[in-house]
Amino acid sequence: MSIQFYNSLKREKENFVPIEEGKVGLYTCGPTVYDFAHIGNFRTFMFEDLLKRWLTHLGYRVNHVMNITDVDDKTIKKASAEGISLLDLTTRYTDHFMIDLEWLKMLPANSYPKATNAIPKMIKLIERLLEKGFAYQERDGSVYFNIRSFPDYGRLTHIDIKAQKQGDRVSEDEYDKDAPQDFALWKGWKESDGNVGWDAPWGKGRPGWHIECSAMSSDALGDHFDIHCGGVDNMFPHHENEIAQSQCATGEPFVNVWLHSEFLMVDGGKMSKSLGNFYRISDLRELGFSPESIRYQLLAGHYRSKILFSLDKKHESERIVQRVSDFQLRLIENNADQFSVGLFPEAYSEFKNRMNNDLDTPRALATFFEFMKKINSKLDEQKISEMELGAAWEFLNVFDSIFGFIQSNDFEISQEIEEQLNKRNQARLNKNWAESDSIRKSLHKKGWIVEDTHDGQKIKKA
Ligand code: AMP
Ligand code: ZN
Repeated sequence: MSIQFYNSLKREKENFVPIEEGKVGLYTCGPTVYDFAHIGNFRTFMFEDLLKRWLTHLGYRVNHVMNITDVDDKTIKKASAEGISLLDLTTRYTDHFMIDLEWLKMLPANSYPKATNAIPKMIKLIERLLEKGFAYQERDGSVYFNIRSFPDYGRLTHIDIKAQKQGDRVSEDEYDKDAPQDFALWKGWKESDGNVGWDAPWGKGRPGWHIECSAMSSDALGDHFDIHCGGVDNMFPHHENEIAQSQCATGEPFVNVWLHSEFLMVDGGKMSKSLGNFYRISDLRELGFSPESIRYQLLAGHYRSKILFSLDKKHESERIVQRVSDFQLRLIENNADQFSVGLFPEAYSEFKNRMNNDLDTPRALATFFEFMKKINSKLDEQKISEMELGAAWEFLNVFDSIFGFIQSNDFEISQEIEEQLNKRNQARLNKNWAESDSIRKSLHKKGWIVEDTHDGQKIKKA
């Protein structure tokens, strides 16, 4: 079965066929770095991480581009309120974002283009839109996109632009779906912009938010690429406007598949600072959450369903991910890693089919947990073959390369343990399995687990 995605543009599931065989160009709208990213933002980023990991597992070479929105209405306002430069503000929050991303064990994107580094590309796009008659200039040096000039405007979000009075326009980046309007491609400089501004043929100013993603995506992935993601709130106006700008400027289709993740809610409903239910990753770290348990809460629901993040689920989610770590330990104790020959158990096919069905994580997790239960009972009864152990080991490793639930513990090892490891390595090179096994057992008694991977032996705390 090939992989199917629910394409927001078509509002149905379809088989995924990349533009270039074996390769996927993936663009994900990144953070607006005016503040810390919150757990809701990370629901979307985690879904995108899962998508990339799954495509990679299927053998695709994924080129993942995540932009950093480092100039827009919000960043300028916040920098000015704090009396610091735009660069100082956005560097601070970009750094925090990268720390959170790593702590949550998300794989880094292939590139993180910053909007402020792509201004010439944006100016070129706007020039093309003006030349082709899709955009018009205003006296204050702003340039607007004329939504009536693009017959497909509203296709993504099914909005009707007939109600729009010709020429109604909006300079803010975010506005209501009920009021589709001509939107700003370029915003003429105003005093409130301070020293933020770039020279353009129609006057000094700064780009609108939407043109930033049109420019950065085509710069990195070409004018026409495979997949574009974001949260549902990005659909209008952001993605609707990206489609309009890019298609009108290039005359080509823009993106084949649009994927949108639903909102994360928190205890008490919608997240808001005033309700005090607004969690940053650093807040959750302080409350003792592990990255794995957060990953579980973010991935256990299907990406197109709303999920509820709750502090009360901490204990339960810790317990669930612990079971996966325990399972790994048990397999290692039974030398499963030594018996793996690249064969998967039957349950893996079901897991794969479920993941291929628009990343159905709730059902894929159910398959894995059921499998784990079955293998654990076989181990209890000591009725398990070496082949079954090896296949379980393979499945567990694939599972963890997608979900990342196994606890990673940072530690330092003493010289004595280091020596034991070297000795064991040598024993393995000499094919002295008895000695290698006995060293492993003695290390286990001292509280260490040694596993043999394709990249050599790895050690972790028991
Ligand atoms: P921003 O930093 O506001 O540009 O948002 C970054 C990403 O987070 C975008 O893809 C948003 O759609 C997404 N996002 C924002 N709030 C939530 C939420 N509560 N749940 C899920 N995704 C969200
Ligand atoms: Zn974007």
